[in-house]
Amino acid sequence: MDHPPDASLLAGIAGALRLLLQPGDFDASMQGALAEIGRAARVDRVYIFECNTPEGGAMVWSQKYEWTADGIEPQIDNPALQNMCFAEICPRWQAELETGLPVVGVVAELDEAERILLEPQGILSIAAVPIRSGGILAGMVGFDDCREAGNWMPQTIQLLEAAAGGFGGAMARKVADDALREAHAILQIQAEELREHRRVATSLIEEARQAEQRAAAASEAKSTFLAVMSHEMRTPLNGIIGFTDLILSESPPDPIASHAAAIQSSGRILLGLINEVLDFSRIESGNVELEPVVADIREAASSALAGLRRAAERKGLVVELIVEDSVPHQLRLDVTRYQQILLNLVGNAVKFTDRGAVCVLIAVTRLDSDTVTLHTAVSDDGIGIEPDALERIFEPFGQADVSVHRRYGGTGLGLAISRNLCRLMGGDITAASRPGRGSTFTFRLAAGICSADTAIVALPGRVIPALAAEYPLNILIVDDVPTNRQLLCRLLEKMGYSPAVATHGEEALELTAARAFDLVLMDILMPGIDGRETTQRLRQREAGKGRWLRIIGLSADATPENARRCLDSGMDGFLTKPIQIDDLAAAIRRSHAEINGVELRRTGAAG
Ligand code: ADP
Repeated sequence: MDHPPDASLLAGIAGALRLLLQPGDFDASMQGALAEIGRAARVDRVYIFECNTPEGGAMVWSQKYEWTADGIEPQIDNPALQNMCFAEICPRWQAELETGLPVVGVVAELDEAERILLEPQGILSIAAVPIRSGGILAGMVGFDDCREAGNWMPQTIQLLEAAAGGFGGAMARKVADDALREAHAILQIQAEELREHRRVATSLIEEARQAEQRAAAASEAKSTFLAVMSHEMRTPLNGIIGFTDLILSESPPDPIASHAAAIQSSGRILLGLINEVLDFSRIESGNVELEPVVADIREAASSALAGLRRAAERKGLVVELIVEDSVPHQLRLDVTRYQQILLNLVGNAVKFTDRGAVCVLIAVTRLDSDTVTLHTAVSDDGIGIEPDALERIFEPFGQADVSVHRRYGGTGLGLAISRNLCRLMGGDITAASRPGRGSTFTFRLAAGICSADTAIVALPGRVIPALAAEYPLNILIVDDVPTNRQLLCRLLEKMGYSPAVATHGEEALELTAARAFDLVLMDILMPGIDGRETTQRLRQREAGKGRWLRIIGLSADATPENARRCLDSGMDGFLTKPIQIDDLAAAIRRSHAEINGVELRRTGAAG
């Protein structure tokens, strides 16, 4: 049957295009459009081939959609119509379609190669029109006569080319839709991944927060435990060390003297241990505040060494201190901490050396216009340290080996504390050693240079000074623990004072109301109103009266926070138990000077 370009063909193409423009199921639209156009063109079969060019290969063609009239055998499942290479089997088709031309004709009149391809499908006449999509060849739409070979008029072919344009547009839309769907799917996967990452991150943050809370709680518990333990242990030690001090100051006969000395030395070792553990944990938790003061480094070093000289002499060791001339006489640094590091290193040097010398060398290098680096080297001729232990000894509880601990004792905390302190003061500490020959520990820290007129910190020695004649004061002791009261009383009596005592805060308030005192030594932890509360009440009572009672707090809680709280409550000073004679004497002298300063100022103001 011929194929005229009549109105029914036009209506069919229009119907097909309408279907192709419909949103929704693309395959169903294609299928519907092929049927519509097939019927209108009065053909037996209409189909679409898609073409693509695999990388590095020739273009291949595959049948994708097909409509057949009733009674015509479909070819959609024909494997021969998949991945066909027209360039090989019928090159004319490839060339025509590629240049945009249709392939039209009666099969019996075609080349043999083309007939071999078309006859097995029962095709008598064919029109194949190229489909272009997005400007490139995307496939073709084919129209077959299988019952009777019809003629194709040029106008009919033109209409079919217009229909092919519709198929091309639909295929381009499909490609865009697929890309969009794929992008959407990828986006959804990424969004889900993002949600998952966010879930993981949130739960990690939550875990970290909980871990931080647990760590903070543990650290808090540790600090409280240490503060309480240190307080509980220092209080009885106060009695032990203080009373042996008293006994020894009365020059008792032997063996009482030697027993008392032994008790005192054990007490001091125990106190040292408590201090070391407390110190270490305080530094570790970042609770150490440096207190830089202006000090003479020569005096500070020789006073630190003085305490160790006896132990060195007993072992026949020479202890030498060399301070280079270039070291300024006054430097600004936390001199107590400097002495602590030096004492620990020289103490170790003496401990681990049996013969020879211990030498301390102090030098400086300039850092900038107002800072120097202070270098201190402590060398000895002692047992030395194996190379593999050199780093370990700076770790907390790190000792060179078990035999060292068995023979020399010690906690293994000294170097860890020293290293932390050095780092805190902008420096560090290192060790070099030759086993059996000796060791050198070198530490450096930053120190400020200061002008010549700044006061130098005094470093007094330890004796019970008779102060009362030179520094007369009326002193009140307030403490609920009888041993502490007794000890302080005896110490002050030795200094020439006649202190009054109160056993609790209320009694202190009563006594101070009845009698004039110059200085109150106030225990902090007492039943009823504690030392701080008592101080606050005393200060309230004094308000506006112009009288200024000196109040020094006494506590076994050596933390800076405790000292600060005491000062905040209105105290003038703070001493840590066990009370050291030198500290007490210094507090008395200071109080006397301050009271007289006040008196002088008051007199001056009156005049
Ligand atoms: P302690 O001396 O209390 O054990 P330290 O932290 O001060 O703790 O020292 C740790 C270890 O380092 C010592 O146990 C010892 O093994 C080693 N050590 C420190 N100084 C010396 C030294 N001068 N000579 C030999 N070994 C030393």
